[in-house]
Amino acid sequence: MSEYLPAFRRNQDARLDSGKRTYGDASFGWPVKRLLREAQQECEDIPNYAFIAWTRLEKLMETAEAIEDMLPGSCPKHPKYTPDKPPRVCCERCWMAYSVRAVQRDMLDMP
Ligand SMILES: [Zn+2]
Repeated sequence: MSEYLPAFRRNQDARLDSGKRTYGDASFGWPVKRLLREAQQECEDIPNYAFIAWTRLEKLMETAEAIEDMLPGSCPKHPKYTPDKPPRVCCERCWMAYSVRAVQRDMLDMP
């Protein structure tokens, strides 16, 4: 995770520069109570963004569950095969089931 810290700090610096271009150094002269209120509002915003992000992840989860529900664990025509050991020649249903299962397993970390 520490590899992300330089990018985080660059973003902080960029936001400070952006604020300076937009507002000048006016915020350095704000009354302390105004600074405190601004900090409180930021604290209120952060969990709101987390909630927005959570709703998007929830929709992704619903989509993943819907895909999982649509697909059988194995092809009905070739039930002895699994996504880990697909048949050498896949029928259309095999290809669909095993390709999606491989994406779910390898890219989405779904069991
Ligand atoms: Zn098949």
